[in-house]
Amino acid sequence: MSIPITLIPGDGIGPAIMEATLRVLDAAGADLEFDRQLAGMTAVHERHTPLPDETLDSGRRTGVILKGPLTTPVGSGFRSINVALRKEFDLYANVRPAVTLMPGGRYEDIDLVLIRENTEGLYVGVEHYIGMEGDPKAAAESVMIITRFGAQRIVEYAFDYAVRNGRRKVTFAHKANILKYTQGLFLEVGHQVAERYAGQIEFEDMIIDATAMHLVMNPYRFDVLVMENMFGDILSDLMAGLVGGLGMAPGGNIGSDAAMFEPVHGSAPDIAGQGIANPTAQILAACMLLDHVGQPEVARRIRDALTGCLRDCAPELRTRDLGGHAGTAEFADAVIGRLA
Ligand code: NAD
Repeated sequence: MSIPITLIPGDGIGPAIMEATLRVLDAAGADLEFDRQLAGMTAVHERHTPLPDETLDSGRRTGVILKGPLTTPVGSGFRSINVALRKEFDLYANVRPAVTLMPGGRYEDIDLVLIRENTEGLYVGVEHYIGMEGDPKAAAESVMIITRFGAQRIVEYAFDYAVRNGRRKVTFAHKANILKYTQGLFLEVGHQVAERYAGQIEFEDMIIDATAMHLVMNPYRFDVLVMENMFGDILSDLMAGLVGGLGMAPGGNIGSDAAMFEPVHGSAPDIAGQGIANPTAQILAACMLLDHVGQPEVARRIRDALTGCLRDCAPELRTRDLGGHAGTAEFADAVIGRLA
């Protein structure tokens, strides 16, 4: 029986890269049934709200969402719908693989995964100004929230991920030397969870700034990395930079009852409507979804076809961001043509 999926094509380049992705999924024989829903600016225009109830209801019903990028207006306007969706479905684990797809980058054969805590830390948004001596913004405070519950479930997720995917090591990055309470609690829980996997998965803890340096100097010393929200936000982009940038990077947001898969890049308003966007990250996000719903063989065939295109096709058959001339649809056709 086909697996029901909530489909949010998104804003800007979203609909075009999603259409390309759906054609690839169809050609590869993915057994999925899509329930199309709106969110973001498209939903504001059509339904006068950035996150309609129908979209949330569909997500609750299917428990699996394939999402394109959504535009978040800067300054005024609504808060990020991406963040709202993560909160609504308690998608606590952000899974960000960084895998070399195309030769000729800074490093060859990178294969890393960063697991970022997605709901706590400084990003809970508990912040305020403090007025003094007539200046209403004399100071500002943000509160970092770390709970034992939140720390435990993300570190457990990282170890379980490592076991499920045949990985050898988990690196726990932190700043417990300075933030002794918040990061200290996170680290304490990290060690407690790691003990349960001793002998099965190697474990190390490392201060976040040193982790950043080692990732750039010698990424091969890492395998799976786990960290709190803001550190993960920053280092996952650094890791995308090791394998060719955000245009090639997918992300999964996983909770106990729901999961959402998306490209890491945004809605690219500067090239929207021109048919030139690179659909790679959206296609890879769909592959993560296929793994999640138990169709890993279809995912493998799509990844092989995509990698084959990026490695072997004449450079002009790549999309423009990769130095070629191909449009979004043309690149999707090339991937479909290579499906084994
Ligand atoms: P962006 O990722 O949309 O674009 C940055 C640059 O990368 C642009 O030059 C763009 O043309 C290029 N680019 C991005 N994706 C591409 C692709 N697939 N193919 C070719 N080129 C690509 O970042 P931005 O301009 O800072 O943000 C635009 C909007 O996207 C903002 O509203 C932002 O809030 C939103 N955004 C959404 C998400 C998400 O939905 N998860 C993530 C990041 C940004």
